[in-house]
Amino acid sequence: MVDLLIRNCRFLLNRELIQGNIVISKGKIEGFTKSGKPGANQVYNAKNRIALPGGVDPHVHFRDPSSNPAEDFESGTMAAAHGGVTTVADMPNTEPPVTSAKVLKEKIKNVQGKAYVDFMLIGGVGRTTVENVREMVETGVGAVKTFMISRFPELSAQDTETLKRVMMAVKKHGVPLMVHAEDEGAIVKVEGEKPSSYSKERMICESVGVARVLELAKQLKCHVHIVHMSSADSLNLISTYKGMGVKVTVETIPHYLMLTMEEMDKLGPYAKVDPPLKRKIDNERLIEGVSKGEIDFVVSDHAPYPRREKEKGFKDIHLAPSGMPGVETTLPALFTLYLNRYLSLERLIKVFSTNPAKFLGIFPRKGALLPGSDADIVLVDPKSEFKVTEDQLLTKTRQSIFMGKTLKGEVVATFSRGELVMENREIFSTPGRGAFLKRTH
Ligand SMILES: [Zn+2]
Repeated sequence: MVDLLIRNCRFLLNRELIQGNIVISKGKIEGFTKSGKPGANQVYNAKNRIALPGGVDPHVHFRDPSSNPAEDFESGTMAAAHGGVTTVADMPNTEPPVTSAKVLKEKIKNVQGKAYVDFMLIGGVGRTTVENVREMVETGVGAVKTFMISRFPELSAQDTETLKRVMMAVKKHGVPLMVHAEDEGAIVKVEGEKPSSYSKERMICESVGVARVLELAKQLKCHVHIVHMSSADSLNLISTYKGMGVKVTVETIPHYLMLTMEEMDKLGPYAKVDPPLKRKIDNERLIEGVSKGEIDFVVSDHAPYPRREKEKGFKDIHLAPSGMPGVETTLPALFTLYLNRYLSLERLIKVFSTNPAKFLGIFPRKGALLPGSDADIVLVDPKSEFKVTEDQLLTKTRQSIFMGKTLKGEVVATFSRGELVMENREIFSTPGRGAFLKRTH
């Protein structure tokens, strides 16, 4: 007798979409059958939906702990389960920022009892905290992050000397360095009343920042990872340096693939994010990058803020904080691109699950439908279409940059280690079932 049989689903096996059953025992995938029913304690009828390995999102901000929680680990991981994401990695800009093993351990203790899905944590490094990288890596962070912007003083590395020190420290301990690569020295003030003028001001910040980081990565032979990459210029630079053998990886976000800066003139501060949305030519180039493999994976950069904070931006867009929730819409957005033939199902699985799992050092336990992998399985209805509305979301702030838009491929069920945690927007199981995962290699 096995524990669970997910029967009548479709999944990719050896690059072919086949119909069959997934056999699960002790939270792991045991194998696949094409027909017949092995004895199982529990049978789940997938009704011909597409089964994917659960998503791995290495870039979320669940605001926990924080004095102003627009989200917490409980609501954030519920939203993740709703979005088909079964492993998240939370960013270090919580309160206090995670820049030492001591704070890291406190954060683990604080959030562990609240998680519905498995989680990892990202450490933070900046000018004053370079010597703490080692202890954070030993405690099990998935990666280490620094910001080229000044917003988080303990986490920022802006000048070349600091960037070099940070890169050398991280290289020594064998984890990737995630970089928010926007160079604020490249902001070009533009006169304009429209919210989208914010995008125009920061049009080249990212590509200038990316160029600086890539050149240093080439010199220092350090693995850098460019987070939330938004522009054709940045991608062209990254692909050039990859071609020279520089160890660089890159992620983007669905809104950079599907939305342009004009969205800011409609949604105002609710479409404000750093780096800001760009142009149609950037959307097109980035979709090409995802589909051809130049972009390694796609994340949410889930970053909610309270409404009263966001709405300050209706008066002046500069006054609003940058960022918005997204962990629930990454997979439907990618699935929409797949159904509209911009992306193959094979690439979708790579960018949503396999590649981020490899990046965080947890593959093949996560990121694959393979015998022996954790039974993190997501069922998507390829025929469904839905409008993104406040009622539809589980994130505490109920905001989305896709608000009012139609997406395809609703996530109908999410299993984490063989346990059903979400079905039809309803959450099952209990908070605290999600486990803290360490980077293993
Ligand atoms: Zn972020």
